[in-house]
Amino acid sequence: MWKICGYELNRGEKLQVMLHPNGREYEIPATLICGAQEGVGMTLLITAQIHAGEYNGTAAAMRLAKKIDPEKLRGNVILMHCVNTTGFWQQVPRFIPQDHTDLNADYPGNESGTIGQQVAAWFVKEIFPAVDFIADLHGGGISETLAPCIFFPRAPKVRDCALEAAKKMNVKYLLASSNSVGEYGYAANCMDIPGFILECGYGGLTREEWVRQVQECMELLLDHFDMYLMEPPVRKKYRKKLFEETEYLESDMRGVWYPAVCENQSVKKGDLLGELGDFFGNMKKRYYAVGDGTVIYYTSGMSVLEGDALVAYGLEDSAEEV
Ligand SMILES: [Zn+2]
Repeated sequence: MWKICGYELNRGEKLQVMLHPNGREYEIPATLICGAQEGVGMTLLITAQIHAGEYNGTAAAMRLAKKIDPEKLRGNVILMHCVNTTGFWQQVPRFIPQDHTDLNADYPGNESGTIGQQVAAWFVKEIFPAVDFIADLHGGGISETLAPCIFFPRAPKVRDCALEAAKKMNVKYLLASSNSVGEYGYAANCMDIPGFILECGYGGLTREEWVRQVQECMELLLDHFDMYLMEPPVRKKYRKKLFEETEYLESDMRGVWYPAVCENQSVKKGDLLGELGDFFGNMKKRYYAVGDGTVIYYTSGMSVLEGDALVAYGLEDSAEEV
């Protein structure tokens, strides 16, 4: 018997439900799967659309929900198909529209706060203590072009477990992260629960190649933890490059942005990364690379506010092949 979110599942059972954090009207569509296989089983949490508009993880989660046969599963899986459901239905990117909560930056939340704060607090109280690993599925935003990559926690107690799993994923780039206020980051740093963010796709697009890539990664994760053997097994691709340090360039003013780089591009120290100007074509500021690196993601849209991310590039000095 597996007790989770007020439900009780027997071995071999799969349940599709709307979860209601704190019993409120807020809805999270989820598939709960209790494996029938004997042996030491862990509970894996897979979340999609913590940022609304990052759709490929949701499509992959829906496919996994159908494909995973509970009779062949060892342990339990929680698939949350879409966490920011109000953002999804209101077509508002990233944040929870009622209160602008960013579930990748505003943990641990507050049980008696706004709805977004309640959702974060519900994860901390009800979900995290019941899981052993978290895979949080993201992508670039509407104006954010990115190369598929994984952010894994630097936190010493969980780093090795998260990194070993990340190394099995079908993406090229692995980036160490100190985020301690997002879903997986809070769980890693404050509750010693390993996990990672998988970023795949961008631009508000749902593309078959990206959905398949996310699905393959999650199937490789289930295999890595000896929870499920996919048939046919997923082929591992890509040599990986691990960046210990990533440079996150942010804008220090509002402006009209012209990027000078693309994802996957190598840059040398001093190379132009892009320039900000005004609506009349007057250049205000140029931004240059502070070291040799590889561009992981960048803002590809023109509109940039003060403090917005412009370009993120992994620093070659800190990189190794893994
Ligand atoms: Zn995101």
